[in-house]
Amino acid sequence: MRVATIDNRLCVIRPEGAVDIATVTGGEFPADPAGLMARWDDFRAWAAARAAELEAAPAAEYQSADLDAPVPCPSQIFAIGLNYRDHAAEAGLDLPEGSPVVFAKFSSSVVGPHAEVVLPSDAVDFEAELVVVIGRGGHGISRDEAWDHVAGLTLGQDLSERLVQWRGPSPQFSLGKSYPGFSPVGPVIVTPEEFPDREAIALGCTLNGESMQDGTTADMVFAIDELIEQLSAVATLLPGDLIFTGTPAGIGWTRDPRVTLKAGDRLVTHAEIIGELTTTFTTA
Ligand code: ZN
Repeated sequence: MRVATIDNRLCVIRPEGAVDIATVTGGEFPADPAGLMARWDDFRAWAAARAAELEAAPAAEYQSADLDAPVPCPSQIFAIGLNYRDHAAEAGLDLPEGSPVVFAKFSSSVVGPHAEVVLPSDAVDFEAELVVVIGRGGHGISRDEAWDHVAGLTLGQDLSERLVQWRGPSPQFSLGKSYPGFSPVGPVIVTPEEFPDREAIALGCTLNGESMQDGTTADMVFAIDELIEQLSAVATLLPGDLIFTGTPAGIGWTRDPRVTLKAGDRLVTHAEIIGELTTTFTTA
C-alpha cells in the first residue's frame, strides 16, 4: 500500500488517483496524518479485511504537486550519521562501532516533495536518505520486533548547512540540519511488504540532471531493525516519528572541487518503488 498526504488528509494512492481514508472508512479513521498514524495497526487490519471495498472506492485525480510531506509534523525526527561505509570514507571519519551516530532534525524543517528552499548561506549540502516512518510506537523494541513498528518507508533529503554543523567545540548536527525546508520528505509512504527486499533499496540524487549519489540501503552499517532497537533502548518512539537512516557516498562537501547548493539549482532525490522528491533553491 502507498499512502500520501493531500490537504492534510492521509490518502491511499492508487495508479488512477487518491482514496481519502477518512471517507472510505466512513469516519472510522481520522483524516489527519498524525491521528491516523496513532491508529496505524487498526487501519492496516481494516484495509486487509476490507480490501475489495478499498479497491472499489472511487479515487480522486491529483497532481504530484498536491502532495505534502506524508507526515507533515512528526513528533520526533531521529537522524543517523555515518551509516554507509563509502560515505564515512569520503568524509575521512571512522566508522561507528557498536552504536550509531544519532542526532535530531527539528520538525519545523519538514516540507513536502516539491519544495522551494531558501538557502541561508553558500555552505548547504545534500544527503539522499531512506526514511523510516514509525507506526506503532514503543520503548525497548527488540530487533526481532522492529519491523512490526514500521508503518512504511519514504524518502528524504537531509539538507545540511555545513558551517553551522561543524561550528564550535562539539558538532551542531541538529541545528545545522534544521533550517526551514531542510527536511524534504515524500512523496509517499510505501508499506514494507511492497519492496522485493526491504533491506536493499536503491537510492540517490541528481543535481541539475547530473548524478551525485547512487547507492543502496544494503550498504548500511546499522540496518533498520538495529536502528529501531538502539534508538528505542533510550527514547520512546511515537507514531508518525521519522528516522533518517543516513546517506551513501557522493555528498557535495567532500568533493574536489567542493559542490554546494546555489539559487536556481534543482535537486531530484530518488528511490526505487518510492519515487522522487524535487527540491529547488533560492536565496532570501
Ligand atoms: Zn544525513
